[in-house]
Amino acid sequence: QEDVFKKLVSHCKEYGFVFPSSDIYDGLGAVYDYGQMGVELKNNIKKYWWDSMVLLHENIVGIDSAIFMHPTIWKASGHVDAFNDPLIDNKDSKKRYRADVLIEDQLAKYDDKINKEVAKAAKRFGESFDEAQFRSTNGRVLEHQAKRDALHTRFAKALNDGNLEELRQIIIDEEIVCPISGTKNWTEVRQFNLMFSTEMGSTSDGAMKIYLRPETAQGIFVNYLNVQKTGRMKVPFGIAQIGKAFRNEIVARQFIFRMREFEQMEMQFFVKPGTELDWFKKWKEIRLKWHKALGFGDASYRYHDHDKLAHYANAATDIEFLMPFGFKEVEGIHSRTNFDLSQHEKFSGKSIKYFDPELNESYTPYVIETSIGVDRMFLSIMSASYCEEQLENGESRVVLKLPAALAPVKLAVMPLVKKDGLPEKAREVIDSLKFHFHCQYDEKDSIGKRYRRQDAIGTPYCVTVDHQTLEDNCVTLRNRDTMQQERVAISELNNIIADRVSI
Ligand code: ATP
Repeated sequence: QEDVFKKLVSHCKEYGFVFPSSDIYDGLGAVYDYGQMGVELKNNIKKYWWDSMVLLHENIVGIDSAIFMHPTIWKASGHVDAFNDPLIDNKDSKKRYRADVLIEDQLAKYDDKINKEVAKAAKRFGESFDEAQFRSTNGRVLEHQAKRDALHTRFAKALNDGNLEELRQIIIDEEIVCPISGTKNWTEVRQFNLMFSTEMGSTSDGAMKIYLRPETAQGIFVNYLNVQKTGRMKVPFGIAQIGKAFRNEIVARQFIFRMREFEQMEMQFFVKPGTELDWFKKWKEIRLKWHKALGFGDASYRYHDHDKLAHYANAATDIEFLMPFGFKEVEGIHSRTNFDLSQHEKFSGKSIKYFDPELNESYTPYVIETSIGVDRMFLSIMSASYCEEQLENGESRVVLKLPAALAPVKLAVMPLVKKDGLPEKAREVIDSLKFHFHCQYDEKDSIGKRYRRQDAIGTPYCVTVDHQTLEDNCVTLRNRDTMQQERVAISELNNIIADRVSI
């Protein structure tokens, strides 16, 4: 699996999906650029989300708020005081780690040991993995399980209490070693704020320290009243936004999974107090359906309900996706009560209550938030789509089985040969389609090589113009996944493609 992940990362670079930022200067840690294919896929993901929120829900509208915001907003939201990661240094390698991530990795090691023992038992008794897991009273499994549970309980409590000394003690008791130096020589654990800051205005006239937003949500909260009043919105209603967010992540790992500059798609849904848990449940279901509609198979998703809640939340869950390195959070759904709006009311001194005309009373709405990282979604889609296939003729191909609606290029048009008027005919075909779909024209190399190139960027359809076309105005339409070819009339292409590339 690690191997597949490495291949995916180099595929992303080779075909213009994702480049390390500032590549010719050897990159910048945990910052990435999207190339000519990546930007198309990313835009299609954003459109898929935006349409599902703003077009399909009459009571959800969008905004686009600024990245720079009044600094008091981050005091009100709690980010100045609490948006911290616990860090620990190894004295020998001088490397810095997130203490909680070291402990999570340790938990994963126990899981690995447990799974290996279960797999062994399954093999011995000729059972499936699930059967073996269900019945397992294997001494070793129980022993690992007990250790894992004890560690989990202790870890959750330490995090909940914000007890840094206890986090360090866990690392020592578990004999966790530094992956670089291999030693257990750890410093104390310190808190580190994840927000980037900069200065607005010149220093001579008293510059103001401001932050790059670490989430887009606060831009929605502080605009809540503007939108509600000018849009005459009635609770329940939602505000959606897509935009950049910045976090000075210490342990930036796994490619675009954890970046320092990334993009979020967030929607805050404002509801009447007391109805929030029903709405939470509804949004949980709606969001999972949205993911599943991409067709990667239900087994790739699971919920992870939080048992440890932030002080302002009364329910929270993650939607996790099976990445090459295990199930990982892609989206968070949180019931945030009226915490944010109340805080902004308190810190700004302005009333931001909603007057409910039906109840004839004012209240501060409760909020359900759905928050998803565009880049993580991108990574999940790329990893689920990447396939290496052995073909019947003994060759192999790399194909990106992207959902057609998300594919960067929908259609490649190719003249079979570079003469006899075929290129001109192929251009005619493209000209009739390019206002509707992103098309690519390709006449270089053999047709087989051209197909391979389109497979590698996930183009769902290739159209080949041959000599016959000049006579019957028909072309060959090749399907990326099945590699089946059919003969269709040029006049029909628009309808056929439109029909097949919609979600
Ligand atoms: P994690 O626990 O992985 O740090 P989080 O719980 O802090 O994530 P949220 O604050 O809930 O994440 O952010 C919502 C979504 O934003 C996440 O589900 C994820 O998809 C995305 N996201 C958060 N941090 C990053 C990052 N550093 N790089 C890329 N995407 C991110």
